[in-house]
Amino acid sequence: MTLHAPYDANNIFAKILRGEMPSVKVFEDNVALAFMDVFPQVEGHTLVIPKGVEARNFLDLPEAALGDYMLRVQKVARAVEAGLKPDGLRVVQFNGAPAGQTVFHLHFHIMPVWEGVKMGAHASGSMKSAAELEPLAARIRAGF
Ligand code: AMP
Repeated sequence: MTLHAPYDANNIFAKILRGEMPSVKVFEDNVALAFMDVFPQVEGHTLVIPKGVEARNFLDLPEAALGDYMLRVQKVARAVEAGLKPDGLRVVQFNGAPAGQTVFHLHFHIMPVWEGVKMGAHASGSMKSAAELEPLAARIRAGF
């Protein structure tokens, strides 16, 4: 059911895009915004969201917006790799509450993976402060 529903302009990522909620940003242009996940599953957990579209999920994204957005997802993933030097990288995206989606504005998760470092479960981490996230964000910004 949540796969197809009206877009709620009061979702938390829409508020971040409008500047009504804070975020620790790593990248922004006219197509996308990338910021640190405040409940990270692993250090460096970053989210990339599209601007200018009312897309709840990947299925909703207009085809005309797909290419530009995915270029930003890759650009941010490359910066996470360059800045944090992980051994691997997960690029993950959930569609609909039964699939694990909790915020209904399209986003890709970029999660660095280090050998031997256990990753937390989705949507179960403890909340990090901006001060805790900022040093990681600075390293990612330096990776662009
Ligand atoms: P999903 O469950 O795939 O919809 O992912 C939503 C993600 O947003 C989760 O990983 C949450 O930890 C993260 N999240 C929720 N609220 C915020 C927020 N205010 N700022 C940054 N990340 C958030």
